[in-house]
Amino acid sequence: MSSIFSKIIQGEIPSYKIAETEDFYAFLDINPLAKGHTLCVPKKEVDYIFDLDDDTLSGLHLFSKRVAKALETCITCKRVGVLVIGTEVPHTHVHLIPFQHEAQMAITSLKLKVEKEEMEEIAKKVSDKFLEMN
Ligand code: AMP
Repeated sequence: MSSIFSKIIQGEIPSYKIAETEDFYAFLDINPLAKGHTLCVPKKEVDYIFDLDDDTLSGLHLFSKRVAKALETCITCKRVGVLVIGTEVPHTHVHLIPFQHEAQMAITSLKLKVEKEEMEEIAKKVSDKFLEMN
């Protein structure tokens, strides 16, 4: 059975899309730790990040860097933090979190409630910036 992230990539489930390449996809986390919290995923469905082949692993990090550069120009933040956990969704993903306070980097912290309109606004701003920078 396909993971929820594969369904998002295939367009079967909606997402606030940030960026897409032939091999990777980025979209806003629906339970963000900070505004602009983004997930970067390989289209290839592999549960554990260190089971990815070397090209996909390095490609994922380079893609995440490009997304982070777009995020940091659009979202006020101290910097973009990186987390990999993967215990909830068994499809490798890198969390990019534009944090203002270190506590926002703890996955157990309280999630923000961001309205649909604002999520759409953030996704448009960051995806436009990603296209402009790439
Ligand atoms: P983890 O597997 O612990 O790294 O966390 C999975 C993350 O995926 C959580 O932060 C969820 O909020 C996020 N998530 C789960 N389903 C969706 C979805 N449909 N769209 C966006 N983010 C999601």
